[in-house]
Amino acid sequence: MSLIWLKKQVQDLKDQHLYNNILTIESAVGPEIKIGGKKLLNFCSNNYLGLANNPEMKKAAIAAIKKYGIGPTAVRTIAGTTVLHKELEAALAKFKKAEAVITFQSGFSANTAVIPALVGEGDLIFSDELNHASIIDGCRLSKAEVIRYVHINPVDLEEKLKAADKKTKKLVITDGVFSMDGDIAPLDKIYAVTSKYGAMLMVDDAHGEGVLGTSGRGIVDHFKLHGKVDVEIGTMSKAFGVVGGMAAGKKELIEWLSQRGRPFLFSSAMTIPDVAACIAAVKLLTKSGSLVKKLWKNADYLRTGLKKLGFDTGSSISPIIPLMLGDSKLAQNFSKELFNEGLFAKAIVYPTVAQGKARIRIMNSAGHSEQHLDKALKIFAKVGRKLNVI
Ligand SMILES: *Cc1c(COP(=O)(O)O)cnc(C)c1O
Repeated sequence: MSLIWLKKQVQDLKDQHLYNNILTIESAVGPEIKIGGKKLLNFCSNNYLGLANNPEMKKAAIAAIKKYGIGPTAVRTIAGTTVLHKELEAALAKFKKAEAVITFQSGFSANTAVIPALVGEGDLIFSDELNHASIIDGCRLSKAEVIRYVHINPVDLEEKLKAADKKTKKLVITDGVFSMDGDIAPLDKIYAVTSKYGAMLMVDDAHGEGVLGTSGRGIVDHFKLHGKVDVEIGTMSKAFGVVGGMAAGKKELIEWLSQRGRPFLFSSAMTIPDVAACIAAVKLLTKSGSLVKKLWKNADYLRTGLKKLGFDTGSSISPIIPLMLGDSKLAQNFSKELFNEGLFAKAIVYPTVAQGKARIRIMNSAGHSEQHLDKALKIFAKVGRKLNVI
């Protein structure tokens, strides 16, 4: 079949200002970044703690490469489990105060591994309407029936749980920190409802890992729900500055996932340098919570400054700060103007967010200095005025 139709599809995206312009980064990822030969303030990476270019982690990765090589060249269940994988999983379990942890190649893999391993045809999933795409895909793969509940609304969740057949197996799934709005699931309330109706509870803490809780131990630690949430999904691709996913929970859960989590069985293991760098990241966080504190201080400073300028930062209470603009063309223009002024923050448009909810998403980092933040506020003010947003 001819693929000419794809040309039209792509042109349609461009015409609707929904085309993702993929930029190429020419430097290490830090508070500043080089793109197209231009040095920019970086407010776009999920580099919450500034660890993406951390010297200790780089040293650990290089040392591990020297000793163990690069890739394990096998899936975990065949020949892909090295001592480093075991060391990382033990370190993560201890850090997160969980019985056990299993790692995956990414957070996306973790979700597509865990959900179909827990529920299947005839079972029910209750999913927050703004859950991440990888949760949506994990749900689809499971073939369980999906009931969407109103965003971060335990009352609506309870109504839907109450209406369901008592005997059916149920799984409630929520993001921890929502990646596009920067609001946080009320996990304590969701846990209360979930346990009342005998449902399993899974939280995807991708944006809370290294961000929420003591020293970045995550959302379960933040709400002091250790041992109560059945599955805590995390990622090492964001605050940890590397790449990789994980699930934390009871021993029997982790053992089951090692037998039936399909990306664990059918996709090769995390590479040696990634694993070694992640081990170093856990050590770093265990030693000190100072980066996490700096991250929150920076985020509060920037959010307060943006609000004072008259920007709508939506429901953000975390280091993710959206500038709500609505129109996708305006959001794309806003991002371009920021770029011209020396600041990198991308427009987020449909289908990542709903139609009419386009925005600039600002990602904070402990790596930003106060000068970086002040300079950023000046640029946001200038562009905001130029485009009649403030
Ligand atoms: C980013 C993200 C993921 C994917 O994590 P990766 O490690 O990048 O694959 C999964 N869930 C949520 C909520 C995320 O924000």
